[in-house]
Amino acid sequence: MPHCPHCRQSVDTQALTCPHCQTLLKAHGHPGILLHRASGEDYLCQSCLYHLDDTCTFPQRPYARDCTLYRDQAVASRHQAPASANRSQRRYIWLLFVGLMAIAVLLAL
Ligand code: SF4
Ligand SMILES: [Zn+2]
Repeated sequence: MPHCPHCRQSVDTQALTCPHCQTLLKAHGHPGILLHRASGEDYLCQSCLYHLDDTCTFPQRPYARDCTLYRDQAVASRHQAPASANRSQRRYIWLLFVGLMAIAVLLAL
């Protein structure tokens, strides 16, 4: 169950506002559009992937305190870790294959 970014209480995934502190949780009154909110003094953009890769064109960047498109850079990089492990594994298999082919050619000579 998600938590309210303001009061940290558990809230229903479909809740438009926090039932405890009335913080707005969803954008445009739609339960499917999550409104990310900064906590503390930080701006959301500081940890947003789209700020770090310089692809965001929102006018509120880099001082957004709430945003519907925010993507946590730390979470995004955690998801990329398995992909990079797969790439390493594929490179290893390819090198093994090339090595075996080289040995086969040397034995054939
Ligand atoms: S998507 Fe939102 S949080 Fe991310 S950089 Fe743009 S304005 Fe900031
Ligand atoms: Zn709350």
